[in-house]
Amino acid sequence: MDAALADRLADVDARIVDAARGAGRDPDEITRIVVTKFHPVSLISDLYALGVRDVGENRQQELTAKHREAGGLAGLRWHFIGQAQTNKARAVRAASDVVHSLDRTRLADALDAAGEGTALDVLLQVNLTDDPARGGVAPADVEALAIHVISRETLRVRGVMAVAPLDEDPARAFERLRACSDVVRRVAPDATWISAGMTGDFPAAIAMGATHLRIGSAITGPRPPRD
Ligand SMILES: *Cc1c(COP(=O)(O)O)cnc(C)c1O
Repeated sequence: MDAALADRLADVDARIVDAARGAGRDPDEITRIVVTKFHPVSLISDLYALGVRDVGENRQQELTAKHREAGGLAGLRWHFIGQAQTNKARAVRAASDVVHSLDRTRLADALDAAGEGTALDVLLQVNLTDDPARGGVAPADVEALAIHVISRETLRVRGVMAVAPLDEDPARAFERLRACSDVVRRVAPDATWISAGMTGDFPAAIAMGATHLRIGSAITGPRPPRD
């Protein structure tokens, strides 16, 4: 195994603890998801050996393939953080423990229709940019989406998720996500998760109240090019 991987993981975890303490928060209430997209599945087993139990993927085909190979690792939770096509909802659901990118009613309906047995944890992805082409529901429409998703029997709304825009101070953008979280918790009081914070902005996300960080390159090293 790459010895530097253990070092980078330990370094990021120490920075998480520092940021949490600096914000007066308990580091134990924060889940660090390692984003493994574009890396080989061997990275997931290496991370697992280092104690990682939450991994994130953003493409359905890659998620499905890796889950097929590594899905047997006991206690490993799979987070889907990418845009999902409605016609891939069944495949996404089959390979995910949490879907962070639920941003429209049709996707909720498709994920719900694919459900059987246990409920699927979902987060409502909010678009913090002015560009409607970016993934996520507009902040003004978050409440209506939450109400719709709550009515889907096999989905459990756990909270909200967002990516900070590149052209804005992330702390300011995360304040809008925090406000969306308040809106969602009014209709779903136990939807307390806030998925925010990546390599470049996780301390700001922790200061805002993020409960789930999605950290890739700071831990994995640079991503190989997309195929
Ligand atoms: C790739 C990705 C991340 C991780 O990005 P890094 O900058 O490498 O930490 C987090 N969230 C989403 C939605 C991503 O696609």
